[in-house]
Amino acid sequence: MCGIVGYIGTHQAAPVLLDGLAKLEYRGYDSAGIAVYDGEKIRTEKAVGRLKVLEELTQDGATLPGTVGIGHTRWATHGVPSDLNAHPHFNHDHSIVVVHNGIIENYLKLKKKLAGKGYEFLSETDTEVIAHMLDYYYKGDPLDAISKVMHRMEGSYGLGIMFRDHPDEVYAVRKDSPLIVGTSPEGNLIASDVPAVLKYTRDVYFLENEEIVKLTRDGLHFYNIDEEELEKEATHIDWDMNAAEKGGYEHFMLKEMHEQPKAVKDTLTPRIKNGDVVIEELGMTDEEIRTISKIFIVACGSAYH
Ligand code: GLU
Repeated sequence: MCGIVGYIGTHQAAPVLLDGLAKLEYRGYDSAGIAVYDGEKIRTEKAVGRLKVLEELTQDGATLPGTVGIGHTRWATHGVPSDLNAHPHFNHDHSIVVVHNGIIENYLKLKKKLAGKGYEFLSETDTEVIAHMLDYYYKGDPLDAISKVMHRMEGSYGLGIMFRDHPDEVYAVRKDSPLIVGTSPEGNLIASDVPAVLKYTRDVYFLENEEIVKLTRDGLHFYNIDEEELEKEATHIDWDMNAAEKGGYEHFMLKEMHEQPKAVKDTLTPRIKNGDVVIEELGMTDEEIRTISKIFIVACGSAYH
């Protein structure tokens, strides 16, 4: 697990993003990055390791001015933890930028298609495919491009997206990966979990699978995958920060235990196709797999208990 944040409002975005990512640190990550748009250029910084490194690199966000931005903590699934693979990811001319939590199962197929159309890939991630696919479908209407890309993607995703042509908008979508939307008089936010927005608001919307949200400085617009506008109700959160991090459970271990069925399902589902186990990212042929005689399972965490 890992985290997404996004902000558009009256404050400088970078400190809000860094603060939100810090509140999501408990989810685990190997690298972090933010992208901030000042109306002219989308600037980004990424760093492997602790969030502290990114905070130092950006002087707590001061080097990235602007009031619109998206941020990410990564838990690598496709490609090693590195600055190059860390999010955000761009299209070729840096006019579209994306952060992503989850796994795009059919990314190899999509990557091949895009490569055939001349798209070049800089990272090993499945996420970069999304940035290029948005570029391919974008004809001036972000919502339309996002909806088209969602129709093509298989897998799980929470996404934060910005378009250079639309400086006063942030987009987000989700499928089988959590994403919430917070609204306050000083701006609107997206995040993977409630603690990231509690400093600014207690009124949140829970995005359902395959829903899209457009955030502006003073408004929220929700859509389904077919671009039809939706009415959604906000939920008022009255947990304190401590309880919010634990999702209402008494302690983290209890939360982890209750999340196990979902964690196992999320890990296995993308790798089972038509009743067969398919692990594309292994990059091995059936023959090579047959020669394996020993498998070591290396893990950490509180599973020991
Ligand atoms: N699959 C993406 C990657 O490896 C996203 C991982 C995540 O959820 O942080 O970059």
